[in-house]
Amino acid sequence: MRSLSGRELAGQIRAATADLAARLTAAGSPPRLAIVTATADESSAWYVRSLTRAADKVGIACQVAELVEDISKTLSMLSADPLVHGIILATPLPDGARLAALAEAIDPAKDVDGASPASLGRLMTGERGFAPATAEAVVRLLDYHGVALGGTRVVVVGRSAIVGKPVTHLLLDRDATVTVCHSRTRDLASVTSSAEVLVVAAGRPGLIGVDHVAPGATVVDVGTNVLESGELTGDVAPEVAAVAGALSPVPGGVGPVTTALLLQHVVEAAGPP
Ligand code: NAD
Repeated sequence: MRSLSGRELAGQIRAATADLAARLTAAGSPPRLAIVTATADESSAWYVRSLTRAADKVGIACQVAELVEDISKTLSMLSADPLVHGIILATPLPDGARLAALAEAIDPAKDVDGASPASLGRLMTGERGFAPATAEAVVRLLDYHGVALGGTRVVVVGRSAIVGKPVTHLLLDRDATVTVCHSRTRDLASVTSSAEVLVVAAGRPGLIGVDHVAPGATVVDVGTNVLESGELTGDVAPEVAAVAGALSPVPGGVGPVTTALLLQHVVEAAGPP
């Protein structure tokens, strides 16, 4: 079984990003990312800490607006701020709040995680814009490891607006034949076991077992679940390694590529030096 590690690819993206960030700074336009949080959730705090550290390492300044009450107003103000190039609204959001609706207040040119309806529409229609970094990371990881997509039978598990749906569109654009599964799919294993490439983004540890995977299939595990022990685990059971031809690890697969792409989007949003 081949391990689809994302660490080397992430390192390459980071190096190119750091180079561009240094040139932007030298040209008097230092790249800046704004992160907005609206809940005191520990996973949100963890995300903000790790993203801030990663940004710092490549020369991107970060500003964090914490526990924001009027989210739309804050996002609009940041959108109008010429010193801010990228804006991320961290999840989870307060109960009942919808990411896409709130992200409407983010200028699409600064929507570095492709969260707004405008960005998602652009993605669907093939116009220029930022794709959600996780969805893009899945395709970049497959490309990096030489997995062919044209004409390939791909099954995506998960239909969220931030992972499942955008990755489906990116894969369609690469001429894959894509089937999407979700929580109401009947007999999940019968569908997923037909996949040559299986992309899993459900947020359910161990959801995908050996019966769900065709021998030799390529499996990309997007799931990032924090167990009670504090351990990070994906959606794919460890036994799958014995049947899959290739499998992305958690941690160390899609995650680092996602972070690296988010930061690359920020320097792209800051424009050419
Ligand atoms: P979500 O909760 O919004 O969506 C989960 C999707 O999985 C839903 O569409 C649901 O229908 C489907 N699903 C749930 N249970 C299922 C089941 N039993 N059978 C089939 N489908 C089922 O989650 P999300 O935001 O799309 O994130 C999915 C996972 O990806 C989470 O573990 C999240 O932490 C992870 N994630 C990772 C990264 C990264 O960079 N690695 C980034 C974003 C999200």
